[in-house]
Amino acid sequence: MNNAPRATLRTAAAGGLLALLSIAGHCAEPQAHPHWSYSGQTGPNKWSEIDSKFTSCSQGKVQSPIDIHTADAKHAALSELKFDYQASPLKVIDNGHTIQVNYAPGSFLTVDGKRYELLQFHFHKPSEERIDGKRYALVAHLVHKNAEGELAVVGVLMEPGAKRPMIKTIFDNLPLQKEKEVEVPGVSINIATLLPENHAHYTFSGSLTTPPCSEGVKWFVMKTPVPVSSQQIAQFGHVYKMNARPVQASNGRVVEIND
Ligand SMILES: [Zn+2]
Repeated sequence: MNNAPRATLRTAAAGGLLALLSIAGHCAEPQAHPHWSYSGQTGPNKWSEIDSKFTSCSQGKVQSPIDIHTADAKHAALSELKFDYQASPLKVIDNGHTIQVNYAPGSFLTVDGKRYELLQFHFHKPSEERIDGKRYALVAHLVHKNAEGELAVVGVLMEPGAKRPMIKTIFDNLPLQKEKEVEVPGVSINIATLLPENHAHYTFSGSLTTPPCSEGVKWFVMKTPVPVSSQQIAQFGHVYKMNARPVQASNGRVVEIND
């Protein structure tokens, strides 16, 4: 009679320990994928404290995004962008920070004699980069990598206007589950249809705008915004109301303009 409750107690204690271990296991998980966000205790001002690999977020000197002061931009003769984009089957992932479209191999950006392959593109609301203080409704970041592992990101600013069919195709197929890539059967997209006709752009050195905020990223922000409908902006807003890092100090960086 006396032993029974004790046994039960022991079982309960063991159960409690298991529960604790599983919580610890759960806590250990963020070591591999440290949790960060766009507000509060895990927001941009705290990123560098979340993981030792994130120190660039506060210590870096060429961080992105920046506010582009057009009056200070230097005219550049080079850095013409050559886009060689092919269609890709639509593969979408909600990675917990943005909606990302993973792109099939074989699409390239060539600039300054270097060839970068398009890996993925994703969205921020509102635009992370500012032009003379102005933020746009959305921005798409087209992330490319060359054979040396160097990154080049093309920013396409978006403002309210006509509906963009390519954006509709993506936003109508948003995954219901986070962190799981969904391939939409029979649907392909071509990122070329998102680019503005005019390839004038601003270029500067910067970083990833998300942890680990790694530097050495070449930025190309298209000067001409493209229209997307207010409904499409709202559609993205239902999933991510605000996923933009605040602008970072330019620290005397030169922004070149190519138009
Ligand atoms: Zn981005």
